[in-house]
Amino acid sequence: MNLQAPLAQLKGLGPKSAEKFHKLGIYTIEDLVLYYPFRYEDFKVKSIFDLLDGEKAVITGTVVTPANVHYYGFKRNRLSFKLKQGEAVIAISFFNQPYLKDKIELGKEMAIFGKWDQAKSSMVGIKILIQAEADMQPVYHVAQGISQSAVIKAIKSAFDAGYIRELPENLPGILLEKYHLLDRQTAARAMHFPKDLAEYQQALRRIKFEELFYFQMHLQILRAENRSQTNGLAISYQKSKVTEKIQSLSFSLTNAQQQSLDDILSDMQSGAHMNRLLQGDVGSGKTIIASLAMYAAYTGGLQAALMVPTEILAEQHYDSLRALFPELSISLLTSGMKAAVKQAALSAIADGSVDMIVGTHALIQESVNYHKLGLVITDEQHRFGVKQRQLFREKGENPDVLMMSATPIPRTLAITAFGEMDVSVIDELPAGRKPIITRWVKHEQLDRVFSWLSQQVKQKAQIYIISPLIEESETLDLKNAVALEEEIKAYFAASAHVALMHGRMENEEKEAIMQAFKKGKIDILVSTTVIEVGVNVPNATIMIIMDADRFGLSQLHQLRGRVGRGDKQSYAILVANPKTNAGKKRMQIMTKTTDGFLLAEEDLKMRGSGEIFGIRQSGIPEFQVADIVEDYPILEEARKVAAQIVTDKDWRKDKRWNALVQNLKQKEILD
Ligand code: ADP
Ligand code: MG
Repeated sequence: MNLQAPLAQLKGLGPKSAEKFHKLGIYTIEDLVLYYPFRYEDFKVKSIFDLLDGEKAVITGTVVTPANVHYYGFKRNRLSFKLKQGEAVIAISFFNQPYLKDKIELGKEMAIFGKWDQAKSSMVGIKILIQAEADMQPVYHVAQGISQSAVIKAIKSAFDAGYIRELPENLPGILLEKYHLLDRQTAARAMHFPKDLAEYQQALRRIKFEELFYFQMHLQILRAENRSQTNGLAISYQKSKVTEKIQSLSFSLTNAQQQSLDDILSDMQSGAHMNRLLQGDVGSGKTIIASLAMYAAYTGGLQAALMVPTEILAEQHYDSLRALFPELSISLLTSGMKAAVKQAALSAIADGSVDMIVGTHALIQESVNYHKLGLVITDEQHRFGVKQRQLFREKGENPDVLMMSATPIPRTLAITAFGEMDVSVIDELPAGRKPIITRWVKHEQLDRVFSWLSQQVKQKAQIYIISPLIEESETLDLKNAVALEEEIKAYFAASAHVALMHGRMENEEKEAIMQAFKKGKIDILVSTTVIEVGVNVPNATIMIIMDADRFGLSQLHQLRGRVGRGDKQSYAILVANPKTNAGKKRMQIMTKTTDGFLLAEEDLKMRGSGEIFGIRQSGIPEFQVADIVEDYPILEEARKVAAQIVTDKDWRKDKRWNALVQNLKQKEILD
C-alpha cells in the first residue's frame, strides 16, 4: 500500500474521475487523505420553536400525511407532506425531487434538513437525513465536475482501504507530549470522520499546530542563516554627516522615525547582515528614513539602491532624492528608458560615479553591475517575490537589506508572521497633520457632493474620483471609469479640467497625466485603483470613492492615503449604498478613524467581512486550515519552540529532530 500512488489506484475511482481531482490539487492518495474539510455543517436537531426565519436546520418528526407530488410547468414539481413535532404540524416541501416520495411513509420518524419559513410554519427541504447520520457533516472545497459526495466517497474509500496506516508522523514526539497533541493518523481521521465536536477540535488543533510549526521552522532557519553570516558588511558611515543632514531638514523626525533610523544604522554598522522590515502607515515618513539610510551608506563609501514597483513611483522617489541630496550623483533606472540614456546610466553605475540608484525591476536585470553596492531597499515589499529580493541581494557583496511596507498589521502579528526579519515600526504620524475628514454619503446625495466639489474647484482644490471596482474584470472597470469621466465632464463643463487614468494606459501616458495633475493642470482626476500607494500630490485634498463598499478596509485606507499629504484640510467621501451589514460597518469605521493600525485591529475583530486587513497584501502565505489571526496563540507558541530548536547550533544532529530534519529537507526548507 503506497500513499504516494496516483489517485486512480483507489478502488472505485477511474482514471477519468481521478483526473478531475487534479483541479483540487489532489494527485496522490496522500493528497486526498490530507484534503481536509474547510468547515462542518451543524446538523444538530432543533425544535421549531428555536428556529429563526430563514435559518437552515434539521428538524425531526413523524410523517402524518402521505407524500403528494404536484407537477407544474416544464419539469417542475413539488413534493409535499406534513410532519408532526410534538403538538406542532409542519408543512414540508421538496422542489424537483419527486423520487424522494418513496422514502416518505406514514407514521415514520424522519429527520429533515431544510430552510425554515417562520410565517408559514413550513420548511423547504434540502435533504432527508438517515437517522443514523452524524450531527456534523464535513464541507470540502470542490470544483466543477466534482461534487461534495464524490469527495467524501473517495476519502472514505481511502480510509476503508487502510491507507491511513501508512501516514508517517511528522511532528517530534516531545512536542506531541508537551502540547498534548493527537498523533497524525488519529488527527487526519478525525478531520474527516470525527466522533464528535470535541474530537474534531482536537484534530484541528493538531493540524493547525503542524502547519504553523513548519512555517515557523522555515522562518527561523532563514533567520539563523542570516545571522550566522559573519561576512555581512560592516558599514562605517559618518555619523556627523548623517546628523547634519537630519538637522538640515525642514522638520524634525518623530520619535518613531528616530528609533527606526537608529535600528537601521546600528544594523548597517554591525558586521551582521541586515534583514529588516520597516513598517509604517502611509504618510508616516518611511521614505525619508530610507533616504537617510541610503545617505549613511554613501558616507561609508558605498552605493545604495532603492527598488519600487512602478515607474511613477520610481520617478517620484528620484525627484525627492535629488531634492534632498543635491550634492550627490543619483541615477534613475527603469525599463521604459531610452536605450542611450539607459546605457549611460548603466556605465555610470558600474564605474562608481553614481552614489544612489532608484528604479523598478530594471535594477535586478543581469545587465546591471553595481560598484560596491552596500544597501538595497525595496518599497512595498510584498510587491516583490522572495526570488526577486534574493536576486537584488546577490547584486552586491551581500549588501544590507531594508524592506518597506505600508501595510499596517498589528506589531505583535508582524513580528511573529515575519519571523525571519527584524521589524521596525513607525506608529506615529508627524505632528501637525490634519486628520482626513471622512464622510459616508448615499448615491442619492451625490448632487450635493457635486455642488460642493464645484465650490472646492473654484478654490483651487484638486480632486481624485475613484471609479467602482467591478470584481476583477479590467474591461468592466474601464467601462465604468469612462462612463464616470463623461458624467463628470458633462457636469463641470468648462469649469474644471477633468482627466481619466486607468490600468490599460501605457506607463508614459499615466506618467504624463500624473505630472499634469501634480502641476495643477488637472482639477479632477477620475481613476481606477491604479493610483499607486505612495503617489504624492500634496495639493490634492479631496478623494471621492464611488461604490466604496466594494472595497475592503485595507484598500479604502490605502486609497484615502493619497490625500492629506500637505498642510491643508483633506476630505474623503465614500459614496455607497451597502447591501450587507459588513459593508455598512466598514463605511462607519472608515468615518471614525484614520489610524491604520486601529483599522487593522477593527478588521481583525470584524472577520467574516471576507477581507482581513492587509494580511493578503502582506506576503504572509495562506494556510490550509490555520488562520493567522484566529490562531495567533498557536502561531506564537509555534514560533517559540521553532526558535528554541534552531538556536541550538547542533540541532540538526540531535536525534530527537531526525524525522523533522528529513521532512524539512523533503520540503526543500533545508539544503
Ligand atoms: P511614507 O513613505 O511613509 O508614505 P513619506 O516619507 O512619503 O511617507 O512622508 C510623507 C510626507 O511627510 C513627505 O512629504 C515628507 O517629507 C513628510 N514628512 C516625513 N517625516 C516628517 C516629519 N517628521 N515631520 C513632518 N513632515 C514629515
Ligand atoms: Mg512611501
